[in-house]
Order: sequence, then structure tokens, then C-alpha cells
Amino acid sequence: MSALPVTCVPAFDDNYLWLLHGVDPRHVAVVDPGDAARIAQVLQAEHLHLDAILVTHHHRDHTGGVQALADAYGCPVYGPASETIPARTQALVAGDLVALPTLGRHFTVLDCPGHTAGHIAYAGHGALFCGDTLFSGGCGRLFEGTAAQMLHSLGQFAALPGDTAVYCAHEYTAANLRFALAVEPGNPDLVAYAAEVTRLRAAGLATVPTTIARERAINPFLRTQLPAVYASVWQEAEVAHAAPDETFRLLREWKNRFR
Ligand code: ZN
Ligand code: FE
Repeated sequence: MSALPVTCVPAFDDNYLWLLHGVDPRHVAVVDPGDAARIAQVLQAEHLHLDAILVTHHHRDHTGGVQALADAYGCPVYGPASETIPARTQALVAGDLVALPTLGRHFTVLDCPGHTAGHIAYAGHGALFCGDTLFSGGCGRLFEGTAAQMLHSLGQFAALPGDTAVYCAHEYTAANLRFALAVEPGNPDLVAYAAEVTRLRAAGLATVPTTIARERAINPFLRTQLPAVYASVWQEAEVAHAAPDETFRLLREWKNRFR
């Protein structure tokens, strides 16, 4: 598991805003600050200094607090080059290195289109900040990208080391697992994890971060190449066979109408 200290700041109904700490833990960067007031509150209460803002995509629940925090703290704003991000000072493309010298941290930028066309993720120090691309047990909706793009984006994440800590931007796990169990009812890891998530949520606890190893074991959107998953998707869609991209698209559509 990642040695990177991270503070979870819940916001709105189900967003998680992440504060990642420097080697000196009083210096922090924030990922996807949808709500400036929530972040300012934690910074003041914990006597933290905000040195950078990292944004994964342009949606309001991820960017709503960027301008106010940038104004208040005078820090750089990193975000995807191909999307409109408020107050952005550093436009990022795949493979860029985000060096945060006052934190002693650095992150690699991964391109992960699908949820939005220019969505990026930040990987480093055994952690992945993936915005609305990968959720525990699920993935983001395809608002701007294609199924093929999302499948490729998720495949990139699945290839990261198994112990990578995955900081998703929403607490969607319980609902995702109800769907995952419909897809793959015979997966013992999934059944066990669903029971654990039920316990965590009943206690009011977050299920995030998750890990890449766990998601490989339980997340149907990372498992469409497996017979147990694709057979279930094809059966539900009433098709005899589908190519990988089409299978992924059918799975995502099934999730969209699943209640
Ligand atoms: Zn989003
Ligand atoms: Fe979101």
C-alpha cells in the first residue's frame, strides 16, 4: 500500500476531495477541489499550507472550488491541456511529470479519456488519483468518450502495481457492487468484498481508497476479457458474440439501466 499520506475531505453527497501531504506533512496539494469552503476549513483547522491544485477533468463537482482556492493561496493549478479548467496555470498532457518541490512529491500524468474527452489521472508514490474514470467496483459514465477509449484507459490502470492505492473521486462502491454481483454472482472475492463494504458503509466509513489488485479481482469493468464476465454481458444483451470494445460498451449500457 502507498506510503503517501492522504487526507479525505468528503463534499456534496458523495464526492471525495483528496489532500495529499508532502514529506513535511504541513504542505499539501489538493486533487479536484469541487468545494473551496470544505478545503479551506480543513487547511485552517489542521494548519496546512496549500501548494498546488491538481484537476482531473472539467466537471463542476471537481473544479468548483479551484478559482477561489487559487486566489486565496496563490498556488499553481494543474489540469488537462485539452479541457477548460478555471485558473489553470499548467496544461498537462500524457507523460508529463508534475513536480511539487515544496512537497517533495512528483506525479506522472496518465491520459484516460472516456468519462470526458480530456480526462487525466495522476500516478506516483504508490498512489493513483483517477477522478471519475475508475471507481471501486465500477467506472465513470461515458459522457464524452467512447467505450474503446474507456476500456483502454482502465487497462492502463489495471497494469499498475497491485498495491497501488486508488483514490476515486466518489463513494459509489455499494451501488457498483450490487451491479457487479448481477454480472458475476459466482465471484467469491466480489461476494466477500460486498459484505465488507456493507459493514463499512453501515459504520459510516469510506470504502476508498481501494487498490488495483482488489479492482482487478472484483470490478467487472476491468474483467470483460474473462469468460464469466463476457458470457454474462452477452447473455443479458442477447448477442451470441461481441468484440472486446463492444462487450465493454454493452456492459456500461447494462449498468446505466440497472436498478
Ligand atoms: Zn465527472
Ligand atoms: Fe464527479
